[in-house]
Amino acid sequence: MASHGDNVAVTIGLAHGFVKQRGYDAAMRVAGRTLELRGETEAAQDALLFSDEELQVKASVIVVAATETAVERAVREGKFLTHAALYSHPDMAVEKTFFLETFGCQMNVHDSEKVIGTLQQQGYSQVDTEEAADLILYNTCSIRDKAEQKVFNRLNDTKKLLKQGKRFGVLGCVAQQEGEAIFERAPYVSLVSGSASYRKLPEMLARLEAGERRIAGLDDRQTDETFETEFTARSNPYRGYITIIEGCDKFCAYCVVPYTRGKERSRTSTSVLAEARRMAESGYSEVQLLGQNVNSYRDPEGKRSFAELLAAVAEIPGIRRVRFTTSHPRDFTQDIVEAIDSVPALCNHVHLPVQSGSTTTLKRMQREYTREQYLERIGWIKGSRRPISVTTDIIVGFPGETVAEFEETLSLLESVQYDAVFAFKYSPRPNTPALVMIDAIPDDEKGKRLQVLLDRQREWQRANYTKRIGQVVEVAVEGHNTQRGQVNGRTSENITLNFVPSGPILPAPGSFALVEVTQSFPNSLVGRAV
Ligand code: SAM
Ligand code: SF4
Repeated sequence: MASHGDNVAVTIGLAHGFVKQRGYDAAMRVAGRTLELRGETEAAQDALLFSDEELQVKASVIVVAATETAVERAVREGKFLTHAALYSHPDMAVEKTFFLETFGCQMNVHDSEKVIGTLQQQGYSQVDTEEAADLILYNTCSIRDKAEQKVFNRLNDTKKLLKQGKRFGVLGCVAQQEGEAIFERAPYVSLVSGSASYRKLPEMLARLEAGERRIAGLDDRQTDETFETEFTARSNPYRGYITIIEGCDKFCAYCVVPYTRGKERSRTSTSVLAEARRMAESGYSEVQLLGQNVNSYRDPEGKRSFAELLAAVAEIPGIRRVRFTTSHPRDFTQDIVEAIDSVPALCNHVHLPVQSGSTTTLKRMQREYTREQYLERIGWIKGSRRPISVTTDIIVGFPGETVAEFEETLSLLESVQYDAVFAFKYSPRPNTPALVMIDAIPDDEKGKRLQVLLDRQREWQRANYTKRIGQVVEVAVEGHNTQRGQVNGRTSENITLNFVPSGPILPAPGSFALVEVTQSFPNSLVGRAV
C-alpha cells in the first residue's frame, strides 16, 4: 500500500497491459486524481509517468493492479523498476488469477475443466498455487465424510491468505449440500456455488469483482439447466470427457448425489455429437461420456437411445476409443452390449457398480435390482463376441449388513471376476434415508470387511491379469517413464500397461501401439511393443 514519504515523481506502472486495454483516462480515474502525464519509461512499456502530491509515496514506481497478488507478481517478474510501492484498486481488473483444486470423481474433474474455461473467458488466468492466486476455488466432493472433511481442512489451512486480499470460493457438492451455512462455518468464503449453478458463474464473478462479500449460487433440485459451454479447458489433448446427463433420480438410501446434483437431465444428442466432432477435429482420439448414471440417458429430442448415441460418437472420424461411465444396473440394456460388439471404437469395458451381492442389502439400499437381475446383465456382457472387461463399486458395512450378506458380496465378486473393484466403507451422509437406519455396523468391523474383500479381490484380479500374458493388445500411449525406459499406456479394457518400445524412438503420447503382454501384476500389465 502507498506509504507516506517524500513528494516524488512517480511512475504508475500498470500490470499486464492495463493502459493498452483501458487507456490513460481509465488509469487516472482509478488513481482517483488528475495525473500529470510525463511520458513513458523504460521500466514498463505501458507505464505512465506523473507527479503526485496526494499519494506521497516513497517510491519511484507505483505498481497498480486489481489485487496485491497481481502487483507482487508483476514486481517479481521484473516488469517494473525496483522501489515499487504497491497500490491495489479493485476497479482495476487488470490481471485476475485463480487457483482451482478439484476433489472427487470424474464428473468433478470435468466440471472443473468447464469452470476453468469459463474463468479464462472472463479474463482470469490459472496459477499453480494458492499463494499466487487472487481467487482460490475448491471444487468439492461430499460423497463420503472423509472427502467433505478434506475441503474444510484445506480451507482452514489456507485462510491465512485472506490477509493478502485473496477471495475464497467453494464449488460443487459440499457447496450445494451445506449452502449458505458455509459462510457461517468459514466466514472468509465469498462464493458458494453448486454444480447446477455454474452457468451463472460469469455473473457471480462480476459481483465478486464488484466487492460483494457473500454470493451463493444454489439451484433447487428441480432445475432443468445443464452446464454446456464451448469454453471447456480440457487438461489432456488426446483424451477428453463429455457430460451427456447430469443429476440423479435414483435416490439410493446412502447417497447424497440426488440432493447435490439435482434431478436427472440429459443433453440433446445433437449437442453431444457436435461437441464430440469438435473434439475429433482438434485432435482428440478418445472420448469418455459421463453421467452419474450415464445409461439412464434420454435424448430430449427423442432421436437416439443411449446405445445409438454411443455408436454415433464412436463412428465420428478420428475417434478411436469411446468409454462411458457410470452405468446403473437397472437401466443397463442388452443393446449396449450389442453396440460394443458391432462398433470397434467402443471400448471393451463396462463399469457396473453392484454395491452389494445380497438382494436383501440391495433392497435396503433402494438399488432397484436384485442379485439375480445384476448377474443377468453380467451374463449379457460375458456372452458378447468381444471379451468385455467389467469393474464395479462396492459399499461394505451398510446398516444391517449381516456377515452372511457380506459373504454374498464376496461370492458375487468371485463369480463375476472383475478386473477392478472400488470398495468403500459405508459413510453416513446428511439428508439420506440410511442415516436413521438402525443396526449401524461399527467402524472397525467395516474396516475388517473392507480388508477381507480387498485381499480376496487382489488374488482374483492377479489370476485374471495373468491370463492375459501372451495376448497382443492395442495400447493408447499416455506418457513415458524414462528412468525405466518404459512407455505408459492403457488398453481398451482401461488396464494400465507399461511396455518396452520396439526401437530407440519412443511412441508419442496420443499414439497407439500394438503390445504383447509379458508380465502381470494385480493392477497392471507389462509388455513389449511388437
Ligand atoms: N451412480 C453410480 C451408481 O449408482 O453406481 C455411482 C456414483 S457414486 C458418485 C460413486 C460411488 O460412491 C458409488 O458407486 C458408491 O459405491 C460410493 N458411495 C456413494 N455414497 C456412499 C456412501 N454414503 N458411503 C460409501 N460409499 C458411497
Ligand atoms: Fe448415488 Fe444411487 Fe444416484 Fe448412483 S444411482 S448417484 S449411487 S443415488
